[in-house]
Amino acid sequence: LELFKYNINDIFSEILKEVFENCKKEKIKLEVELEDLEIKIDKSLFSKIILNLLNNAIEVLTNYEQNRKISIKAESKDNEVLFSIYNSGPEIPEKIREYIFDIFASTKGRNGTGLGLTITYYIVTRIFKGDIWFESNQEGTTFFFKIKQNIDKT
Ligand code: ADP
Ligand code: MG
Repeated sequence: LELFKYNINDIFSEILKEVFENCKKEKIKLEVELEDLEIKIDKSLFSKIILNLLNNAIEVLTNYEQNRKISIKAESKDNEVLFSIYNSGPEIPEKIREYIFDIFASTKGRNGTGLGLTITYYIVTRIFKGDIWFESNQEGTTFFFKIKQNIDKT
């Protein structure tokens, strides 16, 4: 684990470089709303979380013809940072919700490994000791995760 302090805007502009290109190509409106904050993290593991969640969002939207939108947010509270990644699109069916973080759970047949959310869950909860959950309805799906900011405010 390589923990360093990063400004959240810097780290996202690095992670999102390719994502911006993909979204433009797929005509997805990408909104990024980040509080100006610093966080101490392992950058490579943090990137995996964000990219896994964004890849799923993009995959949903490529099969969705209506307004294609992704919105990324970060806000800090009590030395924790809450991240959320929203995508427009259909509601996640009840059946899938219970095992969505399980290994090999996928609705994508040959195109899915079902590993993305399992790895994401592991990194967030076991390595960063945080929480991850989601909300889904007819307006779309939001994945939330919360991790420690690890910055001394002295
Ligand atoms: P994979 O993407 O390889 O299928 P994941 O572990 O990343 O595996 O995701 C597991 C399943 O969870 C997906 O197959 C899909 O059914 C569902 N899922 C994940 N993210 C979303 C999302 N943003 N909206 C709707 N369904 C999702
Ligand atoms: Mg995936």
